[in-house]
Amino acid sequence: MRKQIVAGNWKMNKDYVDSELLVSKLLEQYNHSQTEVIIAPPFTSLLCSSNLLKGSQINVAAQNMHFAENGAYTGEISAGMLKSIGIQTVILGHSERRAYFNETDTLLAKKVDTALQHSMRIIFCFGEELADRKSGNEEVIVEGQIKNALFHLPASAWENIVLAYEPVWAIGTGETASPEQAQDMHAFVRKTIENKYSSDLSSEVTIIYGGSVKSTNAKEIFSKADVDGGLIGGAALDVTQFTAIINAF
Ligand code: PEP
Repeated sequence: MRKQIVAGNWKMNKDYVDSELLVSKLLEQYNHSQTEVIIAPPFTSLLCSSNLLKGSQINVAAQNMHFAENGAYTGEISAGMLKSIGIQTVILGHSERRAYFNETDTLLAKKVDTALQHSMRIIFCFGEELADRKSGNEEVIVEGQIKNALFHLPASAWENIVLAYEPVWAIGTGETASPEQAQDMHAFVRKTIENKYSSDLSSEVTIIYGGSVKSTNAKEIFSKADVDGGLIGGAALDVTQFTAIINAF
């Protein structure tokens, strides 16, 4: 049985003090659920968040990492550094990293390899831009992103991969893919993985949806057969919204 996951990407929000407040509120409001809950605060709040969450069922992820082990990469953070503070999960390929920091599929493939060498779990984001959808190219774009960054991996590596379909036009825009659009793309991705690997593997891969998920639309999106949860941006900064999304399953 594949996992259900709700992950909150805080992006570049919340300083150390505000992070502690947000995590404490989350601990107060969160009830045990079958769904795995993950938060991804900024680097400066990873350690305090995981300390506060010790013994809880909420996990902490990083929003990014570099592919190199160490060296002259000013401003970057390595997998080893994340592991040294107990971080086991990393988001890679977020559309904001692709758009503002020129992260290409080739670079992402290197980051994927490094994360896996460190036995980290990856939440790998992909998704088409509005122009791609308007021209009917969304599947070609998504297939390319997945193939280029992940299809060099052996089947065994996939137990550490979670996929996050995030149509760029739906991120932070208030516009959401319809539950049918999300389902169609998730089913297409599962088929693509099945064709490359096997139906056993593809049916086990968790595929979550991201793009303006809120407490008001989460239930409908999560009810789709191939949607295994959500990657939540803006609404993850509001504990009431975030817990309602978790409870939407
Ligand atoms: C995201 O940043 O991954 C995201 C889905 O953002 P939002 O929920 O704000 O659209």
